[in-house]
Amino acid sequence: MEKYDAVIVGSGPNGLAAAIHLARIGRKVLVLEAADTPGGGMRTKELTLPGFKHDVCSAVHPMALASPFFRDLELEKNGLRWLHPEVPLAHPLDGGRAAVLHRDLEKTAEGLGKDAARYRQIFEPLVSHAMNLFGDALAPLHLPRHPLTLARFGMGAAMPATVFARLFKTEEARALFAGNAAHGVMPLHKLLTSAVGLMLQVGAHAVGWPVAEGGSQSIADTLVRILQSHGGEIECGQRIASLDELPPAKAYLFDISPRNLAAICGEALPAGYRNRLLRYRHGPGVFKVDYALNAPIPWANPACRLAGTVHVGGTFVEVAAAEKSAWDSTLYDKPFVLVAQPSRSDFTRAPHDKQVAWAYCHVPHGSTANMLESINQQIERFAPGFRDCIMANHTMNCAEMEAYNANYIGGDVVGGVTDLWQLFTRPVARWSPYTTPNPKIFLCSASTPPGGGVHGMCGYWAAEAVMKRVQRGE
Ligand SMILES: Cc1cc2nc3c(=O)[nH]c(=O)nc-3n(C[C@H](O)[C@H](O)[C@H](O)COP(=O)(O)OP(=O)(O)OC[C@H]3O[C@@H](n4cnc5c(N)ncnc54)[C@H](O)[C@@H]3O)c2cc1C
Repeated sequence: MEKYDAVIVGSGPNGLAAAIHLARIGRKVLVLEAADTPGGGMRTKELTLPGFKHDVCSAVHPMALASPFFRDLELEKNGLRWLHPEVPLAHPLDGGRAAVLHRDLEKTAEGLGKDAARYRQIFEPLVSHAMNLFGDALAPLHLPRHPLTLARFGMGAAMPATVFARLFKTEEARALFAGNAAHGVMPLHKLLTSAVGLMLQVGAHAVGWPVAEGGSQSIADTLVRILQSHGGEIECGQRIASLDELPPAKAYLFDISPRNLAAICGEALPAGYRNRLLRYRHGPGVFKVDYALNAPIPWANPACRLAGTVHVGGTFVEVAAAEKSAWDSTLYDKPFVLVAQPSRSDFTRAPHDKQVAWAYCHVPHGSTANMLESINQQIERFAPGFRDCIMANHTMNCAEMEAYNANYIGGDVVGGVTDLWQLFTRPVARWSPYTTPNPKIFLCSASTPPGGGVHGMCGYWAAEAVMKRVQRGE
């Protein structure tokens, strides 16, 4: 008789979501985590100086608020506080200008001048049905519950961002869309690259782009509390290299990369399936910098000073060029930089009068180049005097990212390329992508639909797949 119904390897948002979903219906679950603390991409550490708390990976959480499963868990009632910056996102342009994404759709539209009417026309119908959209989009391929909303989203989402952006006339609206589309880590001329951009802009209006008080570690701690309240167990410092190391269980769920699943499971999976896992494609990596600052970043544009997130890279054309070069494995000295300023809304992150900032750019897969100077230059371009604010920094290249978390293959932090083919068939084309040919083995990481981000929906759907197999008596 197995002691556990399910053993979950990896405690990222998806591993914890899978464990909670099973524990809530009375299953006995154990989570095993390689690192010394739980959380995967949701950890906060003093990376620079004492008292400066930096989000090692995820920092800004629209997807957590959009997630139907996390909403159902009522994280706030379990101790988590979301803190919303005054402005979710600003995108500076030369000459002290900026495109500003407000919570309020109307205010955003008004700020976009000649594009105001077009902005309303595109976003109002999606934002007013946002929860239906999130429910259908954060799921594997299925018959949609809200086909009209999904069709409206799909018409835009399917387009390359380069085509979609032509709907706008102003440099501001185009740049704003480029920065959001670039979260997909794909060159913007590829099909489907508008999907992420649309989703994030809808998210800003519908749920906001908050940070977690105390850092993204607070999300992990809240999920662990919920898991334990349902009798779930978690053990850290357990790096699993082989199935033989796991205690007997009815099901094993892996919050890991397809490549590592093949290595750990070995012949427990058929050779043909393993080969398909090994052919799974990972895209560009990231170079990350965390800063301890003696003052807020002195952005030339005032809205940028109020923003939780600032997209730094200039015009649509510049952002597109930066993303294309990361994809083409070319180093680029004007990267598109995603900057978060968590201490603008969360005063627990830094000592009095001090600030933290979080920044990263996309780089060629596996690159070990040091992009610190290029990132500093890009921020300085829109915030003259930035360098004078820096007290200390901490950097991580692709290799260091992968050493930190084995899921970040070659520095890829979104769990694999999200092109037309791999978005729906991650990790391989199967009716239920969470299942494997071995009825006891499941994958639940961001390398399954709906992909990267802190939303836990890959874990939720993987747990659903486990339950379906149990019901069928397999
Ligand atoms: C720099 C950076 C910035 C990001 N910014 C954001 C953001 O602002 N907002 C957002 O929503 N998302 C962001 N993300 C993405 C987000 O963090 C990931 O998509 C998400 O964490 C994936 O969740 P997961 O559960 O699939 O895997 P992970 O969070 O990667 O967790 C996997 C866990 O499994 C463990 N593990 C791996 N192999 C083994 C093994 N063999 N044995 C035991 N344990 C193992 C790992 O240690 C890890 O703890 C960012 C990521 C990075 C790196």
